[in-house]
Amino acid sequence: MKIYNTLTKKKEEFKTINPGEVKMYVCGPTVYNFFHIGNARTFIIFDTVRRYLEYRGYEVKFIQNFTDIDDKMIKRANEEGITVKELGDKYINEYYKDADNLKLKRATCNPRATDHMDEIIEFIKGLVDKGLAYEVEGDVYFSTKEFKDYGKLSGQNIEDLQSGARISVDERKKEPIDFALWKNQKPGEPAWESPWGMGRPGWHIECSCMAHNLLGDTIDIHAGGADLVFPHHENEIAQSEGRSGKNFANYWMHSAYLNVNNVKMSKSLNNFFTTRDILEKYDAEVIRLFMLSGHYRTPLNFTMELLDSTKSGLDRMYNALNNLYSLLGEVSKENSDDEFLQVLDGYRDKFIEKMDDDFNTADAISVIFDLVKDINIKVNINSSVSVIEKSIAILRELGAPLGILQKEISNSLEEEVENLIAERQKARQEKNWALADEIRDKLKAMDIILEDTPQGVRWSKKS
Ligand code: AMP
Ligand code: ZN
Repeated sequence: MKIYNTLTKKKEEFKTINPGEVKMYVCGPTVYNFFHIGNARTFIIFDTVRRYLEYRGYEVKFIQNFTDIDDKMIKRANEEGITVKELGDKYINEYYKDADNLKLKRATCNPRATDHMDEIIEFIKGLVDKGLAYEVEGDVYFSTKEFKDYGKLSGQNIEDLQSGARISVDERKKEPIDFALWKNQKPGEPAWESPWGMGRPGWHIECSCMAHNLLGDTIDIHAGGADLVFPHHENEIAQSEGRSGKNFANYWMHSAYLNVNNVKMSKSLNNFFTTRDILEKYDAEVIRLFMLSGHYRTPLNFTMELLDSTKSGLDRMYNALNNLYSLLGEVSKENSDDEFLQVLDGYRDKFIEKMDDDFNTADAISVIFDLVKDINIKVNINSSVSVIEKSIAILRELGAPLGILQKEISNSLEEEVENLIAERQKARQEKNWALADEIRDKLKAMDIILEDTPQGVRWSKKS
């Protein structure tokens, strides 16, 4: 399996630290609002990476943090007239509702920055002791000059970075790009006790610290949206490698941005959608299929029209599944050494080949569409039960890492009609005429004709 590594700018063979286990850390949301569809793209992508690694037999320790203390949190809490803690509690709760509805698998752990304050302070102390950080008037800064590899992830030269940053010089910092590990308390802000007085951590340190606490010094995969390469992930490397002297993450993965109608999503442009807005109109599987329809390192354009056509595509896949389930109730040929069984295995191989190539979901989805087309042509009333069962199983199997084709299929027509008739009989016995009529109408809408006979109710489908 190959993964594109932002650090080396190459696709590299994937090798884990421990056999069969993947330690993965994904930067999570700042919990000051409902998460938007841009965030959803990133979350779905890394949920898919995790699901696929599991499909390939790895045990994945998947950590995604909640940033629950920063400037945005403080501003929003003030606007809502609640504490930062209450704001965090509220939107973490809302995050889980949307994430569950999007079928994002729950993380192994979702650490909250404010639950790890002691460890964060310890981490910063370690950096100060090593001469990699310094205190000025209750603030603590990372000394970028002291970390020789600074700039290696974003491919920037430290001198260029320093001169670029000189525009907004803060006199108290040794170098303009030195960044805050700890911020002195300002009036009205929440704060924690520390060796440098009351204050709160900077944003970057929480990820370094929680990745270390939960996964160790070196992890397999560190991931996030492309906007995080610099400065967030660059700074995480400086902190983590500065502290441990070891490689922090073996593979750095970044997902490209989601745009709306070809422009950056923003509230002021009125093209901003929360995940919840879209989940009201579209099924989670439609949203997932759409988000995975392009390569994760290529920006994706979001429009309602594209979602509609994605829905038609997913309907095509489900129609094939529905047909297969109906056929199961009709065919009688038990087994055969049908060559289509091997053809089905071939589709699995192709799917794996695409996904093994840096999670090429776009091509993997094309493989599923080809499979659907082939099934529609080749599988019919003359097929054997084993071919039909295997066709169903393979559609389900290949859909699972993408989080699609996992819905229960309503029973075959026969079963559905029999169940409705039984319900109607019961309603009549209970003299619930309104319900009985309602069920008759429903059957009528399905083109089912009922006939009461001395032997019971008979039904037929209008031809
Ligand atoms: P935030 O809550 O803004 O810190 O973002 C949480 C995650 O979503 C990060 O990995 C961001 O890089 C990612 N993200 C934010 N905006 C977008 C976008 N428009 N498209 C894709 N990913 C995004
Ligand atoms: Zn982070």
